[in-house]
Amino acid sequence: MSGPKIPLAGVIGHPIAHSKSPRLHGHWLKSLGIAGHYIPMDVAPENLEETLRLLPKIGFRGVNITLPHKQAAMQIADLVTDRAALIGAANTLIFRKDGRIHADNTDGYGFVENIKSGAPTWKPKEGPAAVLGAGGASAAIVSALLEVGVPEVRISNRTRVRAEGLRERFGARVTVYDWVQAGNMIDEAVTVVNSTSLGMEGMPELRVPLDGLSEQAVVTDLVYTPLETRLIREAKSIGCRTVDGLGMLIHQAVPGFERWFGTRPTVDEETRALLLAV
Ligand code: NAP
Repeated sequence: MSGPKIPLAGVIGHPIAHSKSPRLHGHWLKSLGIAGHYIPMDVAPENLEETLRLLPKIGFRGVNITLPHKQAAMQIADLVTDRAALIGAANTLIFRKDGRIHADNTDGYGFVENIKSGAPTWKPKEGPAAVLGAGGASAAIVSALLEVGVPEVRISNRTRVRAEGLRERFGARVTVYDWVQAGNMIDEAVTVVNSTSLGMEGMPELRVPLDGLSEQAVVTDLVYTPLETRLIREAKSIGCRTVDGLGMLIHQAVPGFERWFGTRPTVDEETRALLLAV
């Protein structure tokens, strides 16, 4: 006789050792008393499809997908949410009972929930958002900002053509600024986002003039190592509400955990402290 299957989930990347997700999901499983496991898996690109087709057969309910597989996973999936299709990348897969793989992208959700919890008075519809960077994370940010009703999303990126690609994909509410004029797009912005990797440990600082930054603006940085980046520090000194990037990492994990393990986990200070302790 076999008992009920132990629910399994995990994260697939290449490499994967740096991922904080196993610690996060492991904490939620333990604190909620769920007898499941969340496993890091280092899978080379040539083995991705085979792995994704095998995992449901051995008890996996789904997986998170990280670099470099976010685009490939979406191509392999049988069903793709509109959101993931628009962003062009998937970070959360659900293995359905009928055998089909369902792909979603929860980065934008995590981004918005993080700002809502860190700056509850945020009113994104009241003015433009200024987004620095147009890399992989940026598409999810732009999509989420448009979804919450931001009237104009201004983007500036060192490689301008990538920002223009986002304008083509997301339409006329997106405007593009030259990288050397990134400071100008901050004027009157209600929301300011760093989605470049500048400011991260080991990378140069982000040096954008903040003269036009209103103290009413909410400023957030996707970089969370260090937790207080130069952008966050300077915005605080101007009097802005600031939101660090760690919360986005935690919030984006919530929908996947709920789908795989059947309970919605809470995001609290204990969760943050746990990840900071790594
Ligand atoms: P990515 O696809 O590699 O994009 C990197 C971005 O940084 C591009 O816009 C790139 O500009 C810019 N950049 C890199 N070096 C630069 C330099 N020297 N000068 C000017 N711009 C530079 O990376 P990503 O996946 O979008 O991630 C971006 C950052 O967000 C990373 O720090 C990542 O850790 C963080 N992130 C955080 C979360 C979270 O949950 N908090 C989630 C996702 C990502 P070019 O296009 O000109 O190269």
